[in-house]
Amino acid sequence: MAKPVVAIVGRPNVGKSTVFNRIAGQRVSIVDDAPGVTRDRIYTHAEWVGHQFNLIDTGGIEIDDQPFIEQIREQAEIAIDEADVIVFVTSVRESVTDADENIAQILYRAKKPVVLAVNKVDNQELRQDIYDFYALGFGEPIGISGVHGIGVGDLLDAIVAHFPADEQPEDDSRIRFSLIGRPNVGKSSLVNAILGENRVIVSSVAGTTRDAVDTQFVSATGTEFNMIDTAGLRKRGRAYENAEKYSVLRAMSAIDRSNVILVVLNAEEGIREQDKHIAGYAHDAGKGIIIVVNKWDALKKNNHSLSDFKGAIKTHFAYLDYAPVLFVSAKTQQRLAQIPPLIEQVSANQNYRVKSSVLNNVLLDAIAANPTPSSSGKRLRIYYMTQVAVKPPTFIVFVNEPDLMHFSYQRFLENQLRQAFDFTGTPLRLIVRRRK
Ligand code: GDP
Ligand code: GDP
Repeated sequence: MAKPVVAIVGRPNVGKSTVFNRIAGQRVSIVDDAPGVTRDRIYTHAEWVGHQFNLIDTGGIEIDDQPFIEQIREQAEIAIDEADVIVFVTSVRESVTDADENIAQILYRAKKPVVLAVNKVDNQELRQDIYDFYALGFGEPIGISGVHGIGVGDLLDAIVAHFPADEQPEDDSRIRFSLIGRPNVGKSSLVNAILGENRVIVSSVAGTTRDAVDTQFVSATGTEFNMIDTAGLRKRGRAYENAEKYSVLRAMSAIDRSNVILVVLNAEEGIREQDKHIAGYAHDAGKGIIIVVNKWDALKKNNHSLSDFKGAIKTHFAYLDYAPVLFVSAKTQQRLAQIPPLIEQVSANQNYRVKSSVLNNVLLDAIAANPTPSSSGKRLRIYYMTQVAVKPPTFIVFVNEPDLMHFSYQRFLENQLRQAFDFTGTPLRLIVRRRK
């Protein structure tokens, strides 16, 4: 599903990140978050009255070596390029400033809906001052207080009112995947090599309003794939093109549209922080994941090279222990033919449904093998388990007392599920609920 994208713009200190966190906070968090991923976020999923969307805080995208006013301009340009709806945040405390007017000038040129929020309206008296903001020319200003949560519901109502009526699900007959990774790991080379080996049906379809470059091809086994090419999305000549946060943002929107993510690493350079950040996002989003170690030809190998690299992956991507790893070379084409069948398998595992009866047999065996934990004389009782969703497979475990469910026992249950069924490449979600 291509979810609408909402971008927040505004000069520094008006409260963009406060508003961002406020809206992000509406989301019910699910267990099993990868550590460190949600820190310093500029991109999140959000939901309001049944509308799902992605939210960007452009204020978090820093463009190196640019003066203040140029930073704001670039951030506004990003909002115009990326978003379906723009939220322009101002502050009632300083009233309309020159910087606000500057941003307004840029936004006038966007043929995108703009919702004007006046933040820091913490009390009734301040409400009267929001009418000055009509002068910015974006219609009725919405008074909010990000800190106190006042008016945020009205703001969200105004945002979703601009969403296109046909939030159409994407065609699901093809498996959608993308290659994600740092610059220079070899994504473009892999894209070209994969396409070179398979029959391309349609190339460069402008699929969405965000001009994603999709290529559809048929593999040797006759399966149809849709490859989402982030490299092809480069908007050449933009100053923000090289901002690290911007490339992460791009990767994230491709991840959202994909069923399976190939996390591409560079064998020569090893594993870096940014690799972990992107993989963590794919994991959080519940996507199928394959780790592809590229440039395997370029590494000076000895007897331990393979096990050393596998060990490094285990250490740095501990939470991705379900992801298969392929050592490939775009240059020599080594093992590239294994990529499409593996994507297909991971996609099937993402969609796998286990019957409740079978599931509960596995649960009974698990409890027999490893008794449930207890705390202050009270033992965890697990009544039953049921699968409620796919992509990723999601299970609800009904218990007497959710607090008694230790992380380690949850981990144990997940491992039992993985032993009983083939969930290679897909994260699993376990939700613990008190039985009513
Ligand atoms: P950004 O630079 O636009 O992302 O702004 P921040 O979200 O970092 O907020 C800047 C400052 O304004 C912080 O000190 C916030 O606590 C404060 N702030 C944000 N929202 C409100 C609000 O609704 N009321 C008040 N009084 N202060 C706020
Ligand atoms: P991207 O930025 O991730 O799209 O990376 P590119 O596909 O542009 O590749 C970056 C550089 O790595 C180029 O010079 C490629 O020729 C080189 N490269 C890509 N794949 C391989 C590989 O498998 N082996 C070797 N030796 N070089 C590669």
